[in-house]
Amino acid sequence: MSNIILNENSIKAFKASLRGGVIEPHDKGYDEARKVYNGMIHKRPRLIARCADVADVIQSVNFAREHNLLLAVRSGGHNGGGLGICDDGLVIDLALMKYTRIDPAARTVTVGAGCIWGDVDHATHVFGLATPSGIISTTGVGGLTLGGGIGLLTRKCGLTIDNLVSADVVLADGNFVKANADENPDLFWAIRGGGGNFGVVTSFTFKLHPIDTIYGGPMLYELRETADVMKWYRDLIPTAPDDLNGYFAFLTVPPVAPFPEHLHMKKMCGVVWAYTGALTKAEETFEPIRAFKKAALDLVGPLPQPSLQSMFDALYPPGLHWYWRADFVNEINDEAIAQHIHFGNALPSMHSTMHLYPINGAASRVGKDDTAWNYRDATWAQVMVGVDPDPANNEKIISWTKSYYDALHPHSAGGAYVNFLMDEGEERVKATYGDNYARLVTTKDKYDPNNLFRVNQNIKPTKKKSETVAAP
Ligand SMILES: Cc1cc2nc3c(=O)[nH]c(=O)nc-3n(C[C@H](O)[C@H](O)[C@H](O)COP(=O)(O)OP(=O)(O)OC[C@H]3O[C@@H](n4cnc5c(N)ncnc54)[C@H](O)[C@@H]3O)c2cc1C
Repeated sequence: MSNIILNENSIKAFKASLRGGVIEPHDKGYDEARKVYNGMIHKRPRLIARCADVADVIQSVNFAREHNLLLAVRSGGHNGGGLGICDDGLVIDLALMKYTRIDPAARTVTVGAGCIWGDVDHATHVFGLATPSGIISTTGVGGLTLGGGIGLLTRKCGLTIDNLVSADVVLADGNFVKANADENPDLFWAIRGGGGNFGVVTSFTFKLHPIDTIYGGPMLYELRETADVMKWYRDLIPTAPDDLNGYFAFLTVPPVAPFPEHLHMKKMCGVVWAYTGALTKAEETFEPIRAFKKAALDLVGPLPQPSLQSMFDALYPPGLHWYWRADFVNEINDEAIAQHIHFGNALPSMHSTMHLYPINGAASRVGKDDTAWNYRDATWAQVMVGVDPDPANNEKIISWTKSYYDALHPHSAGGAYVNFLMDEGEERVKATYGDNYARLVTTKDKYDPNNLFRVNQNIKPTKKKSETVAAP
């Protein structure tokens, strides 16, 4: 590894080499530029490279490597643990690389790494097409995709990575390559779930599906009915048709429309539904759901796909304080339900929540080793998140989240969805990748033997570059 000294001249030359720009701590706008979505994270990088194109990314990767700088890569900046930013080093900020190019005939969309999911939904919806993403439209395409991508279309279309057709990647040595089924298939395998460990992805091409209007939205029940609702829900999801998705949630009803005033600030449980079958069959599909129990609030109906995808954006603006814990779950037994009821009743703030996202259906029909994402046989990805705008409440939300996780973890499948991990150590990362971990290490050894890309849920390489086969 070369180790050129970082000085004013080298920074000046670096700045001149970029079409975007470089922000330093003394620059106006530095404090804004170093913010990430989670208000709990406060890091102070030495340089923030606002990359405008692939050339800027290559220059930045080379600069970080040659100057032995810690390197972070930021797409949407939503990572819970703040892995899009670092102290002292260089941040590659991809936000300027915002473009979408749709091919309606081929049913694909190619998107720049600076896009958030709302940009993608906007570009595809006009053609009556969509690809699976998450449940908040301000989340970055980059991090969500590279970690897997769970959302309301998972049961019908698979994870986001199951719809990734090709990616452009800047490697640690500055080379620019494609990763798809034909070109660098080992890299393509690894980036589908292995996070940002293998390079900077500058563009993603996704498969699209004819999904336009979704019959969906929240259906809420009184908290005292949680046991009934959870038992019914745990039996429904494993055998539900792929067209029907619904994630279970504990929540506090926000004091805003369209929620009726009598429910404002009430703790409740519920399911956020998304039915993507024929609209003519929607009411019929929901007959047994509505017959099971009358909901205290039923906002389920036909909605344009982007409206459902952005329904909760306003509730979760950037800057709130977030603390996460997660697990994969195979089954929800009565003992687990008793614990859920306890912690659901103790939600520590209006924004705090627990979600159970179904990951069976189409996502479970992809082989365990077809992509790096290992937990194909789990039924849910569970996440408990303590959220609050006031840092004075950090201790309260962290303690609730940790206690909730500790109580439920013994009922889990072992690992957790990598995008819901914070800083939980190497063993948790290994548990998350299971049998696929060894292959991820081999791929890391080939593409990033010196671990340039380590501000992530890190796959540690075993070899130094001199010992490895050169990456293409
Ligand atoms: C409000 C909220 C809702 C969420 N909902 C969902 C959900 O419904 N489904 C779901 O699956 N996840 C969800 N997540 C989790 C989300 O997937 C992760 O937080 C993800 O890391 C965010 O991606 P980002 O690009 O915004 O993050 P960033 O903080 O920018 O990056 C996260 C990580 O990915 C790496 N990375 C990002 N872009 C690139 C790139 N182009 N090349 C290489 N590495 C890159 C970064 O280096 C970093 O390690 C949610 C998160 C939040 C905060």
